[in-house]
Amino acid sequence: MKDLTVKELARLCSGLDNWSTKPVESLGISSVRMTDGPHGLRVETTGADGKPRTEKSVCYPCACLLAASFDVDLAYEYGKTLALAARAAGADVVLAPGVNIKRSPLCGRNFEYLSEDPLLGGELGAAFINGLQENGVGAVLKHFALNNQEKARQCCDAICPENAKREIYFRPFEIAVKKARPWAVMMAYNKVDGEYCSQNAALIDVLRREWGYDGLVMSDWGGVHDRIKALMAGLDLEMPFSGEFRGVELENAANTDAEVLEKLKQSAGRVVDFANRAQAAKLTPTPEYDENMAVELARRVARESLVLLKNDRNVLPFKKTGTLAVIGAFAQTPRYQGGGAANVPPVQLKSFCEILTEKGVNFTFSQGFNANAEKPVEALIAEAVEAAQKSENVIIFAGTPVSYESEGYDRPHMGLPEAQNRLIAALAAVNPQTAVALFAGSAVEMPWIDAVSSVLFAYLPGQEGAAAIFDCVFGDFSPCGKLPETFPAKLSDTPCHGFFGEPRTVEYREGAFVGYRYYNAANVTPLFPFGHGLSYTAFEYSGLNVEKTDGGMNVTFHVTNAGRVRAAENAQIYAANPAFELRAFRKIFLDPNESAEIRVIVEAASAIAVGASSSDLRLRWGEAAQAQPPFIMGAAEFEKAIGRKVPEYKVKPFTKDSTLGELRSTFFGRLIYNAVVKSATRNTNAGEQEGQPLQVMLLAQAPYLTVDALITHSGGKITPRKLDGFLDFVNGRRLPGIWRRNK
Ligand code: BGC
Repeated sequence: MKDLTVKELARLCSGLDNWSTKPVESLGISSVRMTDGPHGLRVETTGADGKPRTEKSVCYPCACLLAASFDVDLAYEYGKTLALAARAAGADVVLAPGVNIKRSPLCGRNFEYLSEDPLLGGELGAAFINGLQENGVGAVLKHFALNNQEKARQCCDAICPENAKREIYFRPFEIAVKKARPWAVMMAYNKVDGEYCSQNAALIDVLRREWGYDGLVMSDWGGVHDRIKALMAGLDLEMPFSGEFRGVELENAANTDAEVLEKLKQSAGRVVDFANRAQAAKLTPTPEYDENMAVELARRVARESLVLLKNDRNVLPFKKTGTLAVIGAFAQTPRYQGGGAANVPPVQLKSFCEILTEKGVNFTFSQGFNANAEKPVEALIAEAVEAAQKSENVIIFAGTPVSYESEGYDRPHMGLPEAQNRLIAALAAVNPQTAVALFAGSAVEMPWIDAVSSVLFAYLPGQEGAAAIFDCVFGDFSPCGKLPETFPAKLSDTPCHGFFGEPRTVEYREGAFVGYRYYNAANVTPLFPFGHGLSYTAFEYSGLNVEKTDGGMNVTFHVTNAGRVRAAENAQIYAANPAFELRAFRKIFLDPNESAEIRVIVEAASAIAVGASSSDLRLRWGEAAQAQPPFIMGAAEFEKAIGRKVPEYKVKPFTKDSTLGELRSTFFGRLIYNAVVKSATRNTNAGEQEGQPLQVMLLAQAPYLTVDALITHSGGKITPRKLDGFLDFVNGRRLPGIWRRNK
């Protein structure tokens, strides 16, 4: 470090390009190569035509489905296999996992997140990180913190009572930081308590001072607004490269202010540590990457995570020899991943129809609906109804269209397209043996739920989804996934309803009553509760014993497979605080009549409950108190909880923090907005994501870009001073505007 000049220190604190850090070759400091994840590797290269392209990669089940495994060993294997692939591809670091809480079913990025429960999200996140890092590849834990909506993620301000931050939103990060020590933490785009996460000293202090985190703190891509403020708050690395001007900015500030210089040395030091870590990790002995094994793991994770939500009269599993009508566009064109940074071109992709053909299972196929359409097509429904009438069994492949789920925007509602709801209802009306395989990154409304016999929820299952569904539908494997989030009956039941998706100030009025904590306390019956998931066998719980020890409580109980097939149960252990919340989970495979003792140690609590879901608690010990209202705070209660007034957002006069959308009301604002939209349309590789160009995401975000982001996005060509001149203009102060612009 002593050999580095101030200029070199400053240069180290921002990226070299989109995916790597800067090396200092003369001192042996290498460049760290990063790639997106976690559902596969998104390695970008340049094609022969000179255009950017993304290499093919095994597309794993999305994090939402992995979470349904309630299985830390599987999460570890997932991370490990990804590490081996990363090493083979020459990547040092994977930009994953994302452990943000699923606050609302509408968040466009829910498919990338794990759970509404902080313990489940944190434990799985930690296991994934350990899988990566113990195999020589660094993890970047993201997006810290309160990035719970995609709409307006670049400008919204999350305002959340302190207790809810600690108990719910920070907790998965805390668990992952303490249990797995990720090489880096990525700060979220949004603000928390009025300050952008990338320059939020209070937030970075939680990481460093409270949790003892000593790794690298980096920005999300283009998420830095004020570089000096960010440095002083503790942000080490700005990603990606946004122009040499950033280095100059840091260098100048450090040359005139000793405190800035001190901070710069610390941050550059962490970038050097990060690079050294990556170098050293290359020496970790690991097995060779074997793509077939990765494909097999992708299938296994999917199979062990699919959630059997409903199965009346044990209609599933189907016999392979019965007559079967396969209906729905997604049986032919798989619905398997979401859009944005985590989207990868898969190495192979087989549809359910192809797999049935390969396995020699007879079936008829009808499309039923157009994959991306809202409106029902009567002829398609009629054809499907006829097929359903002629068959013993029906399986419908339905789910959210590709355009519904992506980084960068949220779903406007919780429904499926009318085309699909109508179809499912029509089929269930003519055939009582109707199963639905359902694809979505989070909860959807199921208005037809009482009419169908079975629902197998597949989330977005990755490239091997159809194979895993085959295994479960025909009984080669008994489903054992459990819902890592509550499925509400309707959107208006969600605790954040009315306080979600705001562009500026997002009030977390439900406080810590997130997910099942709310539904249980407020006695609102969900469609399916947190932790729910059926199997082809039945499990019995018995013999709960709780012993207090010095540090906590030893909890033991027995689970017995009382049915006829081998299957796994995911037993859940809840403790009162004051109402029940998840404290531990154990997955165990049992043969028919086999029984096993489960032992866990949990923190001391007044009551313990053990069972198959948050609403199916089979054994209890002690007395749990009732959580006290209000579960959703009124305005005054909320201000009391946050200890201040909710700031009022004023659009005018325009400032650096105004958005391009807000500026559209002015002539010059419209010019800038249109220029940004044009460049987003021109510069993106439109064909990159199947059926869902990246452009859609960029265009959705354009109105929410803040004016100061133009500095970063223009690579420094738009200087802060020019920006001030521009702001004068739009605020109607033409003359000073011209003067400043030309300086
Ligand atoms: C996303 C990150 C991602 C990064 C790089 C950002 O837009 O929020 O999760 O890692 O891009 O692709």
